Amino acid sequence: MTSSLPPIPNAPPERPRVAVIGAGPSGLYAAAALLASDVTPVDVDVLDRLPAPYGLVRYGVAPDHVKMKSVIRVLQRPFADGSRVRFLGNVAVGENGIPLDVLREHYHAVVHATGSSLDRDLGIPGEELAGSHGSGAFVSWYCGHPDATVLEPLLDSPGVVVVGAGNVALDIARVLARAPAEMATTDVPEHVLATLRRSAVRDVHVVVRRGPQHVRFTPAELRQIGELDDVDVLVHDDGLLAAGVEEPEDRRQKQNLEMLTAWAGNEPGTASRRIHLHFLRSPVRLEGAGGRVEHVVLERNEVRDGKVLGTGEQETVDAGLVVRAIGYSGEPIPGLPFDQENGVVPNDGGRVVRDGVPVPGSYVTGWIKRGPTGVIGTNKHDALETVEKLLEDLAELPEARYPDRDAIFERFAEYGVEPVTWDDWLNLDAEEIRLGEVRGGAERVKVAGLDAMLDACRSAAVR
Ligand SMILES: Cc1cc2nc3c(=O)[nH]c(=O)nc-3n(C[C@H](O)[C@H](O)[C@H](O)COP(=O)(O)OP(=O)(O)OC[C@H]3O[C@@H](n4cnc5c(N)ncnc54)[C@H](O)[C@@H]3O)c2cc1C
Repeated sequence: MTSSLPPIPNAPPERPRVAVIGAGPSGLYAAAALLASDVTPVDVDVLDRLPAPYGLVRYGVAPDHVKMKSVIRVLQRPFADGSRVRFLGNVAVGENGIPLDVLREHYHAVVHATGSSLDRDLGIPGEELAGSHGSGAFVSWYCGHPDATVLEPLLDSPGVVVVGAGNVALDIARVLARAPAEMATTDVPEHVLATLRRSAVRDVHVVVRRGPQHVRFTPAELRQIGELDDVDVLVHDDGLLAAGVEEPEDRRQKQNLEMLTAWAGNEPGTASRRIHLHFLRSPVRLEGAGGRVEHVVLERNEVRDGKVLGTGEQETVDAGLVVRAIGYSGEPIPGLPFDQENGVVPNDGGRVVRDGVPVPGSYVTGWIKRGPTGVIGTNKHDALETVEKLLEDLAELPEARYPDRDAIFERFAEYGVEPVTWDDWLNLDAEEIRLGEVRGGAERVKVAGLDAMLDACRSAAVR
């Protein structure tokens, strides 16, 4: 494509090679930007610890957000070329995989796009009880992530508490309240669908620290819970909305407020399930006998001078499952500096910096660069900025020790790593589409479990 362009005069003599670690949106937008570069041709390997690409688009975006997942048509484009950008799945980089130092011997630059996968804690007593999970762990379960730690969530009680005021809290509430027959038309793996079919959940309580005028939901997401079949939405706001609250300036918060005000008059109806939105409440304790969560103790809050303060007044909600959706943090990358407080790698527009000085050949993009904010599209601008910086630095990048691009495969063998290629992934992709046809009405059904995924990757018969 751009290979006929002459290299820039001070470019390194060999064709620069870039490793992008993480095949989520930010990594794939970075690969696309590198491929489109008209500065000099660059070879790119996209490494991911999973055999499947797309990061949180596959393992975070809610299964019933089928349209949202169609972004993969854009994200897969860099691989169409077949050689300039290669997918090397099933390759973890770091302590439990290929050490970063080893990669640095093979690539002139490394772009870290590993996201933010750690759940933040509430820091309250009882959080360790069975039935209490972070949203990352819970979402990984219903999305069929191969290392989901929640194997069989406890959906055997009518009450569930979801703590959080963002879209992830609404995703979880919706998945738990939606009729299993509707979930059958999504890509949830069979074992997840079976659990949802057996679910005893009837009341999903979403607990929000602040008032209804401050929620950060996307209005479209909030609207969806009101449109769910056979689900009543009930607002618990202590009469705040009826009395009238100050109108927020933010357009989205204003739309949310209009919806919540309309719902505030809802009385419990005859629907099979209910989503309760509790405002100005914070969980202070999870309680339960026998090591299992049974109740959540909430404290009422008030907002004074913009600060949320507990009033000391408490109430209890029965729940056999508690999911905290209060944000994520990135994981430190061995060998790189880390900002513990913000859970990101310190950087200047994507250039990794240590004590204010750029670390040669090291870049970041996506959630590990800016923290867990924004929508999928936000990662495109973010990746463009990082790639711009990398291309500016091309002439000064550290030399790679091995001139042969394929020498990396010997290193993989040395570490017992068997990479999954793009064609291998397409085998798994085809198998999932086939499973969707078997279930009927689903675009695909995810293959869950690493071994099953690898088996499908390596079975050429399915395509
Ligand atoms: C529950 C949830 C729902 C969401 N829903 C939406 C939505 O509906 N719409 C929307 O616009 N946005 C949504 N988002 C936000 C969106 O998913 C993110 O903006 C985006 O995925 C961030 O991209 P990323 O590439 O930085 O990270 P990720 O998508 O997390 O990708 C990181 C990749 O790095 C890989 N990786 C991690 N560590 C290593 C390692 N050591 N070695 C190799 N590979 C590694 C991972 O396997 C993963 O594939 C949602 C987020 C969450 C958490």
